[in-house]
Amino acid sequence: MRAVVFENYGEFPSMTEVAKPEPGPGEVLMRVAGAGACHSDISIYRVFEEGDPGAQRPPFVLGHENAGWVEELGPGVSERVQIGGAYLAYGPIGCLHCRQCVAGVETYCENASTLPYLAVGLGRDGGMAEYMTVPAHHLIPLGDADPVAAAPLADAGLTPYHAVKESLPYLAGGGRYALAIGLGGLGRIGVQILKALTGATVIATDVKEEARARAEADGAVTVDAGEDQVERIRELTGGRGVDVAFDFVGAKPTLATAMASMAQGGRCNLVGIAGGTHEFSFFTNPYETYVTNTYWGSVPELWEVVDMYKAGQIRPEVERFAMDDALEAYRKLEAGEVSGRAVVMPNPS
Ligand code: NAD
Ligand code: ZN
Repeated sequence: MRAVVFENYGEFPSMTEVAKPEPGPGEVLMRVAGAGACHSDISIYRVFEEGDPGAQRPPFVLGHENAGWVEELGPGVSERVQIGGAYLAYGPIGCLHCRQCVAGVETYCENASTLPYLAVGLGRDGGMAEYMTVPAHHLIPLGDADPVAAAPLADAGLTPYHAVKESLPYLAGGGRYALAIGLGGLGRIGVQILKALTGATVIATDVKEEARARAEADGAVTVDAGEDQVERIRELTGGRGVDVAFDFVGAKPTLATAMASMAQGGRCNLVGIAGGTHEFSFFTNPYETYVTNTYWGSVPELWEVVDMYKAGQIRPEVERFAMDDALEAYRKLEAGEVSGRAVVMPNPS
């Protein structure tokens, strides 16, 4: 079968023939409907080197944001899993036996350092292929929903959902402000989640005008990325600053903007992995600002994301690519030319 394979550090992925996988005990074989192209894949094949934090050893099939139809059940899988049914696949894979994994928080598996991979498409073969294997307890039923349109929920939906949910205590109450920096795959859905779950005023910014326009359509107030950006963000909050800033880029300038925009006692939530750093000392930051980073999300949270999708509260904008054009999806993503999320369709429906 055809697959998009990350072959070597620093190398653009290739379209390669690989063997069709077989589901192991507790796994299913999924015929992939949609596999989202995430900006993290660019870090995987362009930025990371052997041994870097986050680096996963090649080769493996990319695609950590997937949905499809269950084709076959591996040994021991409950027949409650419906053959032919459409499911979203949770991506992270932990040891399954520690207290985090048992709670469905496989992102923070206590034994992560001893495992051979982080997730499907991150060390283990992912969904940019006609078939993939998925642990059965990672399947979330999509019902009648189109699995191509829903694929981004598995990462571009779940990651901002987890970040926003953890930030809710800071956003509960009247007169609160949230800032979203970077309105691509994750940030756009992040704005939708903030609007649905909080009463906060959502301020959003991106270097791209069309990305800002989409966030405005979703109810955000936008600020462009000009020189006096922080001043304008502060003005919108009456000078106080934002209660939570979500940095969906993570570059040095975006982190600087996030920190300079904080209200005293707010939460700065770094999501983007661009590797930017920020100086931290007594006088350089607003007092009692809590700075944190959040990684992906849990299995129960992904069920909640699917509920929000079915309720029309999350509306991923999907640019569809046939398998023949999968590498073009990555080229466009790197060039900043994707609107919303690029989703590759390895199989015709
Ligand atoms: P994307 O390419 O779809 O979107 C990035 C957006 O940021 C684009 O709209 C771009 O115009 C904008 N941008 C870039 N530089 C900017 C700047 N200086 N100021 C304002 N806007 C800027 O990327 P994505 O797939 O949404 O991923 C976003 C980031 O989150 C990436 O770093 C990705 O690796 C990371 N990520 C983290 C997690 C996690 O668990 N923490 C999960 C998935 C992705
Ligand atoms: Zn990702």
